[in-house]
Amino acid sequence: MNESISTIQGLPPTGSLINGKWLTSNRAFDVLDKFSGGVIETVAEADRSQVAQAVQTAAQAALSGPRPPFERATVLRKAASLMEGYRQRFVDIMVGEAGFTIADASGEIDRATVTLNLSADEALRLTGEMVPFGASPGAHRRLGFTLRFPIGVVCAITPFNSPLNTVLHKVAPAYAGGNAVILKPSAFTPLTGALLGELLLEAGMEPEFLSIVQGGGDTVGAALLEEQAINFYTFTGSTRVGRIIQQAAGLRRTQMELGSIASTIVCADADLERAIPKIANAGLRKAGQVCTSVQRLYVQRPIFDEVTKRLVEFAATLRAGDPRDPATRVGPLITEQAAIRAESWIEEARARGAQISCGGKRTRSIIDPVVITDVPDDGRVWCQEAFAPLLVLRPFDDFEGAMNGANDTPFGLSAGVFTQDIGRALQAAHTLRFGTVQINESSSARSDVMPFGGVKDSGFGKEGPSYSIREMTEERLVIFNP
Ligand code: NAD
Repeated sequence: MNESISTIQGLPPTGSLINGKWLTSNRAFDVLDKFSGGVIETVAEADRSQVAQAVQTAAQAALSGPRPPFERATVLRKAASLMEGYRQRFVDIMVGEAGFTIADASGEIDRATVTLNLSADEALRLTGEMVPFGASPGAHRRLGFTLRFPIGVVCAITPFNSPLNTVLHKVAPAYAGGNAVILKPSAFTPLTGALLGELLLEAGMEPEFLSIVQGGGDTVGAALLEEQAINFYTFTGSTRVGRIIQQAAGLRRTQMELGSIASTIVCADADLERAIPKIANAGLRKAGQVCTSVQRLYVQRPIFDEVTKRLVEFAATLRAGDPRDPATRVGPLITEQAAIRAESWIEEARARGAQISCGGKRTRSIIDPVVITDVPDDGRVWCQEAFAPLLVLRPFDDFEGAMNGANDTPFGLSAGVFTQDIGRALQAAHTLRFGTVQINESSSARSDVMPFGGVKDSGFGKEGPSYSIREMTEERLVIFNP
């Protein structure tokens, strides 16, 4: 039985937000502090009728039509300006329910503010395009242009590992595009989503345009998939669940941001002063629970020992432990079970001859940052998504071979290459089959203006407000015939 704790001040209302009201139900689930295991809060889980009510409210709102774009932009800008005042509450909640370090939680808020402002900009510039009919003999007297309309009801289903940014990358552009949104946050991190709901209502978002239904994937998530009035599913999470959602969506449009095994390649000419901290942070921050975390690191053989040594030294400086301690750099995994799973993968690698150069010790849900070499091809730390603070290094002699290795997974979200050679950089851009190829960066650097998304089993559709807003709107062609 988990001990109840109440160290977090200013928790948001529990339960689901529907049409401006926070509703309770006769089912509830505990939100745990990911470090101590204590109960932070008990949240009412939306029942079937509340899910239906949220969808009906959104469908009615979509039918009545959104406010004009300039008013939607004002709401989003107001929300951005409110972020600072909510900062401490967001940090406390994310440190508790997500296990983020204070620095990681603060980073989420900085980015959230950017995403809100970028989405406001997109609301103002959402427009269609002229059709160059003059180029077509016979049609040359026509005048044609496209208009963009909201798609209607957007359902956002989000993961635990970025409980504010992933949510806002869906909610903000969906609202900017004039849609009514239903959000289902991860049941591991429902309070961040609820606090965001509080903030958005304070910013003036119309209550009927934002519902938040709280609960598990098999219950509330599954119920959302039965709702035919939903026009668009925007999902971030595992490839397994992405397949379930895609199957239920049928001909309805979706955006799928799914799993990944991200690779980074370090060539012998790389600037290691620059590369090492970037790689270590990219593999180990948020305890490696980032979709673009460096998992596979290919290092050109002449510098392999040097890179291993430097990464081990760097990892040793990253204190793992209580995320409330400002000195902590690596907090807990989302559950103890996830940490036990990661530990067993590390042990499997060790038993099959891998060298654990540092870390790997588990204390409840905390894993000390790990650097591993000599892992066999079918070792799970090499060929399955780890979502844990570990970097697996492998030497290469031939650049082409390293790129082929990076490509040889079912996934294709993001890759990085460190080299000073422009020819090799261009070769990487052409060869690496990933949604993003970063030159002189690790796989895990994201700016909110960029088109972000994967290929292969990492999904499809691009995030970034200016891209999402286009995915979440419908284009209509209008032609004036002479
Ligand atoms: P998850 O797939 O377990 O859960 C994601 C969401 O789906 C949660 O809200 C969950 O409740 C819901 N869900 C689960 N089963 C469902 C069902 N049957 N029907 C409807 N909804 C259901 O993922 P997670 O463990 O929360 O997050 C980790 C995964 O997310 C990793 O695989 C990671 O790579 C991926 N991720 C990808 C990106 C990206 O941009 N590509 C970003 C972040 C995380």
